[in-house]
Amino acid sequence: MTLSKHPATIALHAGYRSDPATGAVAVPIYATTAYEFKSADHAANLFALKEFGNIYTRIMNPTNDVLEKRMAALEGGVAALAVASGQSASALAIQNIARAGDNIVSSAELYGGTYNLFKNVLRDQGIEVRFADSADPESFRRLTDARTRAYYAETLPNPKIEVFPIAEVAAIGQSFGIPLIVDNTAAPLICRPFDHGAAICVYSITKWISGHGTGVGGLIIDSGTFDWARFPERQPALNNPDPSYHDAVWTEAVKSIGPVAYIIKARVTLLRDVGACLSPFNAFLALQGIETLPLRMKAHCENANVVAAFLKRHPAVERVVHPSLAQGVAKTRAETYLKGGYGGLIGFELKGGVEAGKDFINALKLVYHVANIGDARTLAIHPASTTHSQLSAQEQLSAGVTPGYVRLSIGIEHSDDILEDLSQALDVASKRKGSA
Ligand code: PLP
Repeated sequence: MTLSKHPATIALHAGYRSDPATGAVAVPIYATTAYEFKSADHAANLFALKEFGNIYTRIMNPTNDVLEKRMAALEGGVAALAVASGQSASALAIQNIARAGDNIVSSAELYGGTYNLFKNVLRDQGIEVRFADSADPESFRRLTDARTRAYYAETLPNPKIEVFPIAEVAAIGQSFGIPLIVDNTAAPLICRPFDHGAAICVYSITKWISGHGTGVGGLIIDSGTFDWARFPERQPALNNPDPSYHDAVWTEAVKSIGPVAYIIKARVTLLRDVGACLSPFNAFLALQGIETLPLRMKAHCENANVVAAFLKRHPAVERVVHPSLAQGVAKTRAETYLKGGYGGLIGFELKGGVEAGKDFINALKLVYHVANIGDARTLAIHPASTTHSQLSAQEQLSAGVTPGYVRLSIGIEHSDDILEDLSQALDVASKRKGSA
């Protein structure tokens, strides 16, 4: 059967029909560490990459394989690699092509964990991360030198929640032989970074993909469109003999099976050696989530539009950030890159600062106060008193976290109930002197 072009169908069917052994329609959890080889030659061929098949669950597993195929199909890529978390997806995506002495250029607007990974961990490993201004695509060019191996950005970073200029930065990268890696965690289905020139997508599948706040996981997806072999000096990791895999030159070694050099290398060297593999149980949870992802994303986006409009009218609210309300360049980017919705993340600034922010959070009854996004339930957090409380006031401001800033991840409850809870919590917050 040819694969449908409709996400609603792909989400249910790509990569799997039924279990060959039992006919099971739901994807089984293959709870096995190893796989019996058919013969000594079969084993040798698998290890030599002459044949592809299961060896050991740290590097592949049939449940994870369905998840990888399904997400690659949904994203319009050629192949994917499931890993233990969103954090390991971004780390491995970069370590796959950058070594000590190399650098990458990244948007400065990043999830805090990724920022720490880049600013501290990768730096300690000798990979310098240079931070560019996402509002100015040319800043990526200015920070590029001969050792720049990748560009990195998030589609819809918070707290600013403005869409990244994917095509502009991807085009600059193309001219140098530099791939753009995009973390599309906050915009699955509504943004397709590969359509705009991104080479690699990473996801925390912990969020909207799994969708129910049940398991941590990550994915790296290869577009298959980046021509690594054209840039041998810029991309040595994929073009020079790899001593960790009997001197394989990745752009040559797997040519016969398609444009998958990047993702195969990540699997058979980095995942093999670092071991940040996804549990098949969490892959199963993600697959359950993906079946309803198109429906859920629609509901998240519709509810978020309603909530953003409500907050904008509310007297206790100073300012609201959501792509549906963007103006100027941010609006043009939102319209260019987002299709079918503006995402579920909303930020807003309460009059009354830190104390109003805390009062608001404490008054919530339906909405959960958690450090997470992308759950089916509506979630809220007050960054100044939690996730960003270790930063100085100045650092908080430069990260876009003002004292009364609240971040919402809008769920799929009935919008009337979300509004009712927000409304009563805003009333409590605005009772504080000087708030409204
Ligand atoms: N990327 C983004 C945009 C995130 O929001 C997060 C976590 O919140 C991550 C990556 C890290 O994902 P995980 O928690 O699955 O490691």
